Formats: sequence, structure tokens, C-alpha cells
Amino acid sequence: MKFTEFNFNPKVAAGVVAAGYDTPTPIQAKAIPTVLDGRDVMGLAQTGTGKTAAFALPILHRLMKGRRGHTRALIVAPTRELAEQIHTAISSLGQETGLRSITVYGGVSIRPQIARLKQGVDIVVACPGRLLDHIKQKTIDLSHLEVLVLDEADQMFDMGFLPDIRRLLTHLPSQRQTLLFSATMPKEIRSLAKEVLRDPETVQVDLVAPAVTVSHALYPVDEARKTDLLFALLKHTDTGSVLVFTRTKHRAKRLGEKLVKVGYKAASLQGNLSQNRRQAALDGFRDGSFQILVATDIAARGIDVSQVSHVVNFDIPNTPEAYIHRIGRTGRAARSGDAFTMVTPADRSMERAIEKVLGRSIERRVLDGFAPSAVSSPVSEQTHRNSRGGQSVGNRGGGNTPSRRSKNSSNHRNYSARPAKPAVASSVGQ
Ligand code: AMP
Repeated sequence: MKFTEFNFNPKVAAGVVAAGYDTPTPIQAKAIPTVLDGRDVMGLAQTGTGKTAAFALPILHRLMKGRRGHTRALIVAPTRELAEQIHTAISSLGQETGLRSITVYGGVSIRPQIARLKQGVDIVVACPGRLLDHIKQKTIDLSHLEVLVLDEADQMFDMGFLPDIRRLLTHLPSQRQTLLFSATMPKEIRSLAKEVLRDPETVQVDLVAPAVTVSHALYPVDEARKTDLLFALLKHTDTGSVLVFTRTKHRAKRLGEKLVKVGYKAASLQGNLSQNRRQAALDGFRDGSFQILVATDIAARGIDVSQVSHVVNFDIPNTPEAYIHRIGRTGRAARSGDAFTMVTPADRSMERAIEKVLGRSIERRVLDGFAPSAVSSPVSEQTHRNSRGGQSVGNRGGGNTPSRRSKNSSNHRNYSARPAKPAVASSVGQ
């Protein structure tokens, strides 16, 4: 299938060409015709699948007809970074359309937003809190709204935004098209979908299938030695851009500072930073001025950085879905990537839950000198032999090499011998 089959307005089609898109991703192929028909959509897809263009292109097409300068499309997203990313995608895809899009979120002055809203815009990309402030102050007019997109709805739920979303809905025209995107479907999102969508078409792309281009490994380690292990991994592994995840904002900040102290170009991305510093960290990571970004789940959710070679889970995530999200930051657009997860004995049950979702066991590696006290002798002292019989998720192409990026593979010791299960389906849009 080609984009030309959608018969987009030529100005919108020009944006597709400028973006270099040729073939629609599965979510685009499925969702675009439905959105063009004016129907509501429940989209089950995560970032990296091309879902932004799946809603942005039909919206741009629709807005080409009708009066300019009224807010006719509203996209609500959980984080400021995601709002900026969506706005950037819309501005780029809509570069020939003359349609105007702005972002509206907290943590920055409200005045410039008010001024821009006054001038008249067609598309608003907003985070819930600041949007409600504008509604309260009557600085935004949503009476002409035709399309509402709720993006990353499960994340909005996790962040406690659902009451804000419900409040927002009371201020919107009931005659509208609504598109709801979520990576997972907890029951709260299912009931939200029931409330807001009318006769929706459900469009789903592999919900929790990881990119096949990502190789996974677990690094058992004692909690107290995680920082040293990270330094050692960075030293022994040939990395490009590295995204490191921690459980808390505080840990992200501290680890970022430690990395800088030992000479790495690193930054942290966490909710306690001002918006300017968050954006600077992200921009610096995107343009390569920072090689390492240490982030929390919330700060990094939905962020599209295409050059990440390694994701390191300094702390194991709280849910298997979060693991899929984190590792989705690497191996994008058919590039290969590595996902390293540090694990302590306390992480056993989450390890199993993640392996269950992946459909197979993950290769375990011990870096010399880092064997945790609880698992001191599961294998002999061979340092670079994989004791496993089957192929693990970690081994692309079926080999037993610990990592193609390993500078010094003798430092990595594999000791898992659990049988491998069949491969899971590949993710889309990668
Ligand atoms: P998203 O899931 O919307 O964050 O998109 C993930 C990445 O895929 C972004 O960098 C998009 O620019 C890119 N992308 C989206 N659609 C296509 C397509 N049809 N062909 C190539 N790349 C795409």
C-alpha cells in the first residue's frame, strides 16, 4: 500500500513526501481510512508504530476545508515532551497546509499561549492541567471543535489525569469525532472509551510485541554495585546514544550527576526539572551533545529518539508494559539495539512477568567481578561461554554472542539455562 491511495489533499500529500514516508505503517493503513470517514477510533498502539501520523494526516486533510483560525482539532497528551513531539510532527506534515498548530502546557508562562490563541489557531496540542486553566480563564474557545484526540490514554490514567479529562469533556461540543489511543487497556481506559467514543472502530497493532531488532540481556547485580556496573558496561560496550531508566526522579538526577562527574556527556530527564531544562536535555540527547540520558518512565514515555543504541534499565520497571515501552526507545526504524536490565534478587517475579510477555527467557550475563552475592556460582568460571542450549531473545540471528556491540566479550558471562520458547510476533512500524 502507498500513501497516494488515501487521496489526501495535495498540500497534505506534500507533507508526507517531505517527511520521506513511502509506505504506511500498519496502524496508519488501518486507522487513516476510518478517521477519514469521520468515525471514532479506539487505537491500541504504542509510540514507535507511527500513530502520530495516523491521526495527524486525516486531521490535516479534514481541516483543509472550512474556516481557518478556529480551534477545530484538539490533541491531549500526558507530557509536555509528547505534546511538543506531536506538534512538531503536525508542523512538519502540515508544512504546506498553512494550518496553525500550537502547544499548551504548564511549567511555562501562560501569556504567550494566550496571545497565540487570540491570534487564532486550527490545532491545539495540550496537556490536561493547563488546558483546563485556559478553559477556566476563557482564553480558549473550543466551541468549534470537530476532532478530539486523547493520546497515550493509559499514561494519562497513570498520571492521575482522568478526572481532568472528564472535566474537559464537559466543555467540548458533543458532536465531534473522537480518537482514543492507548498502549494498554486497563479497565479505567475501557470505561473511558465507552463514555467518549461512539460506535468506534477498534484498530490494534501488536500491543506488547517488542521490536525484533532489539536484543535483551539481564545483568544480575547487587543493588549497591549498580552504578559501578553501569560504568563497566559503558566502558566495555561500544555504545552510541544510551538511555538509562531509573525508578525515581531522585535516582535519575543522582545518576546523571555521577556520570557527568566521571566524564560522560550525560543529562537527566525527570519531572523536577523546569520545562526549559527538560527540553534542553531532550534536545541535547537528540542532537548528540549528550551521549547518555538518564530518565524516569514518565519523563521518557512516548519520546521518539531514533538513534538510541542501548537502553539500560538501571532499575527494572514496575510492569512488563513499561519494559516494552522502555526498550521501544531502541531498535527503532529497523535499526538494531540492545536492552540491558540490571536485576537484583528482589526483581525475580518482575523478571518472570517480563519473560512471559516476551514469550521467552532473557539471556543472563554477569560481568566479571559483578556476580551478585546471592547467585555466586550458578556456572563454572568460564567467562564467555553461553551455557544455554536454546536461542534466547538476546541473540539475534541465533548465535551465542553476548552482544554484537560488546567490545570485550570476555567480560560477559552468561549463565541462564532455561529453555527458550518460540519467538513473538514482530512489532509494527519498526
Ligand atoms: P510515532 O509512533 O508516531 O511516534 O512515530 C515513530 C517514528 O516513525 C517517527 O519518527 C515518525 O516520523 C516515523 N514514521 C511514522 N510513519 C512513518 C512511515 N509511514 N514511514 C516511515 N517512518 C514513519
